[in-house]
Amino acid sequence: MTPFFSTEIEYLKGVGPQKALLLQQELQIFTFSDLIQHYPFRYEDHTRFYQIRDLHEDMPHVQLKGTIGQIQAVGLGKKKRLTAAFKDETGSVTLVWFRGLAWVMQKIKPGVTYALFGKPTIFGRQFNFVHPDLEVLTPAHTDHLGLRPVYSVTEKLKNKFLDSKAIAKLQNTLWQDACTHIKETLSPYILSHYQLMPRHEALPNIHFPKNNTLLQQARLRLKFEELFFIQLRLLKLRNTRIERLQGQPCRDTNLLKKFYHTGLPFALTNAQKKVSKEIYHDLCSGHQMNRLLQGDVGSGKTMVAFLSMLMAIGSKAQATIMAPTEILAEQHYHDLQKLAKPLHITIALLTGATKKKTRAQLYDALNTGYLNILVGTHALLQENVQFKNLGLAVIDEQHRFGVTQRAKLWQKNAQYPPHILVMTATPIPRTLAMTLYGDLDVSVIDEMPLGRKPIKTSHYYDANRLRVFQFLKEQIQAGRQVYIVYPLIEESKKMDYKDLMDGYESICRAFPKMPISIMHGQMKAHDKTYEMQRFVQGATKIMVATTVIEVGVNVPNATVMVVENAERFGLAQLHQLRGRVGRGAAQSYCILMTGYKVGADSKKRIQTMVQTNDGFEIANIDLQIRGPGDLLGVQQSGLLELKIADLGKDEAILRMAREAAQQVLQENATLTHPKNKNIKAHLDSVQHNTENCVRVG
Ligand code: ADP
Ligand code: MG
Repeated sequence: MTPFFSTEIEYLKGVGPQKALLLQQELQIFTFSDLIQHYPFRYEDHTRFYQIRDLHEDMPHVQLKGTIGQIQAVGLGKKKRLTAAFKDETGSVTLVWFRGLAWVMQKIKPGVTYALFGKPTIFGRQFNFVHPDLEVLTPAHTDHLGLRPVYSVTEKLKNKFLDSKAIAKLQNTLWQDACTHIKETLSPYILSHYQLMPRHEALPNIHFPKNNTLLQQARLRLKFEELFFIQLRLLKLRNTRIERLQGQPCRDTNLLKKFYHTGLPFALTNAQKKVSKEIYHDLCSGHQMNRLLQGDVGSGKTMVAFLSMLMAIGSKAQATIMAPTEILAEQHYHDLQKLAKPLHITIALLTGATKKKTRAQLYDALNTGYLNILVGTHALLQENVQFKNLGLAVIDEQHRFGVTQRAKLWQKNAQYPPHILVMTATPIPRTLAMTLYGDLDVSVIDEMPLGRKPIKTSHYYDANRLRVFQFLKEQIQAGRQVYIVYPLIEESKKMDYKDLMDGYESICRAFPKMPISIMHGQMKAHDKTYEMQRFVQGATKIMVATTVIEVGVNVPNATVMVVENAERFGLAQLHQLRGRVGRGAAQSYCILMTGYKVGADSKKRIQTMVQTNDGFEIANIDLQIRGPGDLLGVQQSGLLELKIADLGKDEAILRMAREAAQQVLQENATLTHPKNKNIKAHLDSVQHNTENCVRVG
């Protein structure tokens, strides 16, 4: 961007200090560059004038040319409205206004020729246009046929006469001066290879497209550019990391082999083998590993984490695994302890609930290197947790952790930064992973352990609760256990808490004499642990809980997951909840309960759950329903503030952009070759603060 584009918006003709302030506050438009990148979110088709006799009901908005007859008031009181006939050479339609009647009476002049824009609807036997857009026809209308931009504006802007049309006018003014200042940001060979429109053509065509073809080309070009520079930065980061950061070589596999031949409780799936090899390769390499391990719920990530830990421990380093909740940390501790014991590996648990005295001993054992594995919550990020030699840090269910929390792990070792393995069961759609974790290496477990039966999911209305209860009874009689989950969402905590307690009571009544556990976030840590243990051991048959059990909890004998008020859960959450069952060999079930009234998005979520067990498919649908910003709570990354590309829809363009960025860097990592001078100049001129954010994924 040249200095021209950093000019403050105030200095654009027709703006001035007051409007500038509004544009800044409402649309974050501070400079010329911000304005030109405030792209239209849709277009009105003014490419031609339609004739009235050609209208049909399915038409979207159309443009007509004609004259208006007398305006008449009809109806009384609240039903009062204005109507007028609008005629061209081929026929007549009726215009209708319900609001702003005085204004219409004053502004609209019978007998004058207007350009009309609106959506035709049938009423009676006539075409109606309700609140049509009318402009006195000028030669400009006929000369500038094209697509008209529609810009997003706020109510406040509209009230101050900065509506979409006013923004369009500003864009037009800006373009008059800007057109000579546009600099190409991509290399000519990239433009020609991907057949992209040059920048100085794309910008006018995104704001004032002459036709649809040009608009599509402009969009492709600008989306590509946006994604290309994101990928370029991420890939550069990754290269720098790999070059700069040495890692502790962990090459001794004796311990791993010992476990593999004597302690492995089941045969690994091929996918588990594959990703373990990838990790082993990283740990040997002498460079720091920074790897994302993706695998659907129940795919067996914990075992992979344990194998990786054995690689580190076998090479005289320590390992740690951090979980987002106490329950999950405890569960990991419990499970890993069983595996570690026969190998004489020492392991300890650190959470917020750990007693002071135990803590002191634990710190000591870490410091001297006596302790091999530390399992914990974010409590292990505290400063006084000092390892002798931390070789590997595993972060489970990573989307629950903030970026800064993760960054702290890097500082836990003096000589080398620890190898980092980030595990997530939130199946991140590929597009998003490429953008968010573009600088990480990604391993995917794409296979479930053998013998798992797909979970059967069904939707029941609250009115059929008795049938559901009957089914639960049968399952429990067959020796199985059941989860019943209630939503608990921050803002309405009190009410949700009441729902949970009411639910608990009604379940106690429906299942008299049945041992039932209850668990929620307001309970003390040791009470939660106690209840969880009772359930794990089978002492209780039903676990009534809030979403505290959402993440990672593993009770293979539990075969039914009932979700109350399922319409209030997001797709990712529903999928996580469902993942709590189907962990053993028995057929498992997920039952989604709702009332009769369910919104369209909720309906779609429930249908999706009923139709598929595939986490990636679910994530993609989630991305389409919600948009990427929400999906992982990742707004903090700053990467998702895309101006034009849409991660839900532009996967193909993203792939192209990534491929291009990879090729550019492969050939010319420093971007100093003359043929890449546009790219380098653009990169240098744009300040970016994303570097710290994406460091550890
Ligand atoms: P997640 O990937 O969701 O963290 P877990 O690691 O908790 O999954 O594994 C889910 C269950 O599957 C556990 O009970 C675990 O012991 C079991 N499991 C893992 N790998 C295998 C395998 N290869 N064969 C059979 N069972 C396995
Ligand atoms: Mg897990």
